[in-house]
Amino acid sequence: MTFRRAIGSVVIVALASGCESRAASPIEGAGASVQPRLVVLLVLDQWPEWAFEAKRPHLHAGGFDRLLAEGAWHVGRHPSAVTLTAPGHSLLGTGQTTATSGIVGNEWWHREAGKAFKSVEAEDGAVTAKWLRVPGLGDAVAAANSGAKAVSVSLKDRAAVLPLGHAGTAIWYSPRTVDWQSTRAPAWLADWNRARPIAFHLHDVWEPLDPAQLAALTGRHDYQAGEVGEQGFGATFPHALDRTKNPAAAIFAAPVGNQIVLDTALAAVDGEALGRGGPPDLLVVSLSAHDYIAHGWGHESWEAWDGELRLDQQLAGFLAGLDQRVGADGWAMVVTSDHGAAHLPELSGGGRLRFAQIEAVANTAAERVLGPGHWIADPKFPTLYLSEAAREDARAPEAIAAIVAALRGQIGIGRVERTADLLGNCGPRPAEDRALCLGLDPERAGEVVYQPARNWLFEDDDEPLATSHGSYYDYDQEVPVIELVPGRARHAALTAPDTVRVPIEDVAGLLAGWLGVTAPRDLPGASAVSTRAASR
Ligand SMILES: [Zn+2]
Repeated sequence: MTFRRAIGSVVIVALASGCESRAASPIEGAGASVQPRLVVLLVLDQWPEWAFEAKRPHLHAGGFDRLLAEGAWHVGRHPSAVTLTAPGHSLLGTGQTTATSGIVGNEWWHREAGKAFKSVEAEDGAVTAKWLRVPGLGDAVAAANSGAKAVSVSLKDRAAVLPLGHAGTAIWYSPRTVDWQSTRAPAWLADWNRARPIAFHLHDVWEPLDPAQLAALTGRHDYQAGEVGEQGFGATFPHALDRTKNPAAAIFAAPVGNQIVLDTALAAVDGEALGRGGPPDLLVVSLSAHDYIAHGWGHESWEAWDGELRLDQQLAGFLAGLDQRVGADGWAMVVTSDHGAAHLPELSGGGRLRFAQIEAVANTAAERVLGPGHWIADPKFPTLYLSEAAREDARAPEAIAAIVAALRGQIGIGRVERTADLLGNCGPRPAEDRALCLGLDPERAGEVVYQPARNWLFEDDDEPLATSHGSYYDYDQEVPVIELVPGRARHAALTAPDTVRVPIEDVAGLLAGWLGVTAPRDLPGASAVSTRAASR
């Protein structure tokens, strides 16, 4: 803890001598003297600081060494307890936490519709940014009205849409149609879908690069307790896409899933003529397979190590591709993540808890107040929603109190509160309460908010996980932030992070500064909700 505090004081010193912005960020404004032609936000989905520090000494295929020879390596921190993909990507693009952005999870229960929608899913199933209450980086570029473009590419639709917000060109992978989809459907993308069909990869087999090296690096066999596989892949190598039930979905959990995103991102630079001069363009790239691989096998697994060794090679190619297109001095980049993850519970002394068990405990407690019935609409972490009938019952407050008490007694759950007790005025609250508060939206959150016990995970009956994320613990909140400023000089490749702690809510402002546009959270409309929610 002393170490942490010492680091904190370093940051504060840097801030006191820095800019007058309310953000008080150690990174904001860095490198603003040189304007790049292309600004890149590269998101490695589910990239815990602890896991990268373990792997960094062994990554020398060109990608990470180059990033760390041209960039600074800070430790970033997500401020809220909802360390999940959709809240994390909206935070990266908007600079606003869930309490203001309204993105309370990857999906959530909509009381007025009586069903759950995904974070970028409209009532009719279309992909939309309508649930995002605030502007993102795409909106910031559009508001500048300079002709600059904002483009994003990811396998996951939510990871492509949310950083941009309501404007720009978001491109994502559809396993249903096995091709790239977009909000704007540019002509070059149709050509790209024809020229480089993803179906070509559906018979790929993922074999380890070097089993002996993986055994040495992990100190373990390919199989270790807790590994479950992902998207139909088994626990051990080899992983053949066409041996899974749905090869088009399996591509989400194999290194080829990262490669096709990076290839498509470079195709977007060509297709949209990004970085050709004039005001800088924005490219957001989010690597979703990085997340699924860890979910299925854990960061300590052969698969995660093999995936990172391959990513190191893939990134080297991607950076060279950027050089070719916009010049090595033409692009600036932030590499970071939407959230971290827990250690494999088998190695950390944690455990796993099923949502069905949480729902059963909560419903039994509700029945003691309300009588027999099904009183839980949705138990989905991080908040539990009562059914409409339960909400309309005069005894609802008693039922909520009974649910809170019952869940507090459940092994694997670390914290349970009435949501109403944690809404609004987040800033002055104690650290864990503030993290919970920043993850809640007063209209959209369920009635009860809960967190796992340290090192515990929640999972669905039909989707067992090796590891997961979504809490306020360090392993979920801390992620690397590699900052390659415009006009940078090379240095020896870094082997460890520096002492600068970066609030992840400042990344959007940093990128906006490089782009020469107003930060998303300073745009009109950005704080419309925050006054009501009294959050931040
Ligand atoms: Zn994620």
